[in-house]
Amino acid sequence: MSGIRFYSGKDIPLELHKVRIVQKLDLVPVERRREAMLEAGCNTFLLKNKDIFLDMLTDSGVNAMSDRQLASMMVADDSYAGSSTFTRLTDKLYEIFGTEYFLPAHQGRAAENIIAMTFVRPGSIIPMNYHFTTTKAHITRLGGSVAELVVDEGTKIVSDYPFKGNFDLEKLERLLDEKSDRIPFIRIEAGTNLIGGQPLSLENIEMTADIAHSHGILTVLDASLLQDNLYFIKEREDCAKDLSLREITKRISDKMDIIYFSGRKLGFARGGGIAMHDKALYMRMRELVPMFEGFLTYGGMSVREMEAMTVGLDETMDMSVISQGPLFIKYMTDELARKGVPVVTPPGGLGCHLDASCFLPHVRQEEYPAGALAAALYVAGGVRGMERGTISEQREEDGSEHLAAVELLRLAMPRRVFTLSQVEYAIDRIVWLYEHRDLVGGLRFVEEPESLRFFFGRLEPVTPWLDDIVKAFRRDFGDSL
Ligand SMILES: *Cc1c(COP(=O)(O)O)cnc(C)c1O
Repeated sequence: MSGIRFYSGKDIPLELHKVRIVQKLDLVPVERRREAMLEAGCNTFLLKNKDIFLDMLTDSGVNAMSDRQLASMMVADDSYAGSSTFTRLTDKLYEIFGTEYFLPAHQGRAAENIIAMTFVRPGSIIPMNYHFTTTKAHITRLGGSVAELVVDEGTKIVSDYPFKGNFDLEKLERLLDEKSDRIPFIRIEAGTNLIGGQPLSLENIEMTADIAHSHGILTVLDASLLQDNLYFIKEREDCAKDLSLREITKRISDKMDIIYFSGRKLGFARGGGIAMHDKALYMRMRELVPMFEGFLTYGGMSVREMEAMTVGLDETMDMSVISQGPLFIKYMTDELARKGVPVVTPPGGLGCHLDASCFLPHVRQEEYPAGALAAALYVAGGVRGMERGTISEQREEDGSEHLAAVELLRLAMPRRVFTLSQVEYAIDRIVWLYEHRDLVGGLRFVEEPESLRFFFGRLEPVTPWLDDIVKAFRRDFGDSL
């Protein structure tokens, strides 16, 4: 299911759903966009939705629900304890993963909190292909550390390696040989988020798990982005060609001791939880759920969301549903690459990623090229992306800047939300901006919080370059918005 072929030979993704509920979008004029960007302290997190045309900030909690999901929410069984909605959810997880036990949590990071509190001690090392922000925060908070073992290809911007999220198995063996007594579990992140939604192969997942088990170490899957990873396994891996999505999923889950996920991504709803095969593991984590989340049959989620997640998980086993995100991302990435715009390749799940260092070589890293590109693209087109570069890092203890390894602007593709012409519009404005990239300057902080500065920090342009973008826009687009 790599997409529907067109007689004309055009290689474009086709929406395999129809729109039945719409939300009106406003595109405010470029002058207002400049003003809104300045009001937001040049930080796209601080923009107001009414000023945004295409919101490509994230794929979290903003995926479109299906008619079946919305209908299911009407029959949700609202009760504090013993809800049949919860039974339906655990039955669905058993059907898909073969896991008999499930602990609900209000979102992915809450599941991470429970797992970390149960297993991480001061001095613990948690090997993983790559970290995720909230995962690492929970592990380091408890005195543990993270060992990133992704293959070297994983952090290369331009590549044709199909599974950039794979573990480097040699590095893994070596670490486990030397330090297994400090390793309570290894964490396998499907659809590796921070390197661009890049997948692991089924073979690599299985071998990684076998290595861990041969050292007596537990395997934990972060399945938040599993749906994209499943799509790529099916599309790119020979040994999976004849397997169904359910069979691939079973092969993966059979090798995992613990599977946790953010329901804001997996299952097109909100919420999250931890699934496992083994009762003893369940018992070890169970008491943390009523303490931090809510009673065992809802864990901080609304029953409506649980019902929608149950249906969403079922839809995740359908290639025509899970192909939509990756196909649109591939289209956007390929078109931009064709027009010479620097992008992360091969396209992954989650979104299209622009390489800001290459886009804006004249902006010094100390002046935040990825942040500047995010601000510039919003002004150029009302498109909101997320800075994933130096602004997203934390300063060193001596106050010096910690320069990020890569400066990316992430343009997330919320699933089933945008049409092809909207994606075309985003591509058009990015190409325009690329041709006017000399106009884009750097940023500096005017208000810099000590932690999580990318969420709340306020910046300003080092010169009035936003004005130059507005002028060039008017010259090229006349009175168009
Ligand atoms: C989003 C995400 C999380 C955290 O989930 P939340 O629901 O946002 O708390 C954890 N891991 C990965 C890979 C994610 O993408």
